[in-house]
Amino acid sequence: MGFWRSYLQFPVIYKIAIGFVLGIVAGLLVGPPIVAIKPLGDLFIRFLKMIVIPLVFITLVQGAASIDPKKLGLAGTLVIIIYIITSFIAVSIGLAIGLATHPGKGFTLPGVKPSTPKPVSFVQTALSWIPTNPIGAMAKFQVIPTIIFALLFGLALAFLRVSEDPRVKEAAEVTYKVFDASAEIMYKIVKFVLEIAPYGVFALIAVVIGKTGYSIFIPYLKLIGDEALAITIQIGVVYTTILLIARINPIKFFKAATEPMFTAFVTRSSSGTLPVTMRAADEKLGIDRGLYSFTLPLGATINMDGTAIYQGLVAIFAADIIGKHLTASQLATLATAAVMASVGTAGVPSAGLIMLTVTLTSVGLPLAVIPLIAGIDVILDMMRTMNNVTGDLAVTTATAKAFKLIDFSRGVWAEKK
Ligand code: ASP
Repeated sequence: MGFWRSYLQFPVIYKIAIGFVLGIVAGLLVGPPIVAIKPLGDLFIRFLKMIVIPLVFITLVQGAASIDPKKLGLAGTLVIIIYIITSFIAVSIGLAIGLATHPGKGFTLPGVKPSTPKPVSFVQTALSWIPTNPIGAMAKFQVIPTIIFALLFGLALAFLRVSEDPRVKEAAEVTYKVFDASAEIMYKIVKFVLEIAPYGVFALIAVVIGKTGYSIFIPYLKLIGDEALAITIQIGVVYTTILLIARINPIKFFKAATEPMFTAFVTRSSSGTLPVTMRAADEKLGIDRGLYSFTLPLGATINMDGTAIYQGLVAIFAADIIGKHLTASQLATLATAAVMASVGTAGVPSAGLIMLTVTLTSVGLPLAVIPLIAGIDVILDMMRTMNNVTGDLAVTTATAKAFKLIDFSRGVWAEKK
């Protein structure tokens, strides 16, 4: 009993790390016959896939319905537009660095097949993201159409929640509560699946190492280095430029943002970091509550620039492994799919890993890289979550300045140098 309790209390990140290291050792010791334990890895992958559609649908409806539409206004709309633009910039940086360094080059996975390619052309692909049958889209595991329908559903629900008609308002409130509870249920299931992850990761990495030996380590290091570089550019250049355009002192901004950035790094959850981010917006940056109480929860739901970078990079990594050359049109599809995947990613640890299915299948890249990434996802997730949270706060601060929604007599602004 005592052992079981300490086992459960031991942080799952460490368990995954241990599973990963032991998997490497087992793979090196046993070699190719280790393939026998593959079903254990497949089990984990099946659980991951099981949660994608309900997780995306429920958490997006809940997130979109939590927004107060009365606060949308001009400033809120501008924030949404910049959120989308920065996500596209992020994925472009990720893809550019990926294409310049080819993190997966020279590594091959025996027996890996590309996933079934869906796209015809970029325009056709984009059109196909509007579901003609939303339930059919969910049943067929089409994540992007599911995201679009979920956002519409959630936004409509947000409007009904502030309806003048008491009957509609009450019904909407009940529906919202159902989604709120369902989102909590999904987070519990995610937690359960992550408890299996150490064993899944153990088996998957053991099988890879058993078949390929040491050759995976260089690609891993390259991928981590690429993500770190892309995130440094996104934060150091893109956000800094946005702040400078709004005539905000970036040094003061980053001073105020240190706490949420650090919290995001260690918790690997934008949603979990939200209270810390909001406090920084209020106490340290003096931003108007009417603005940040709308834009920060929205940002934690849809604005994930670090996740967009990661999706792009992993896609290039996957293309390298199967030696696939991506055309310009495929890159455009990939970029849009990566942004959509980042929008659909829940703000909880490793949710972006689950969403790789969306980006990879958009241009027929092999899903077999997901287990490979799972082993190092903790490191990648820390960095990208920090980027996600910084993006929300930087865009909110710049917009607040533009609309005179900052009180410069408070927080870091009032501090002497
Ligand atoms: N952990 C990230 C976040 O909460 C999401 C992801 O896995 O990409 O922002």
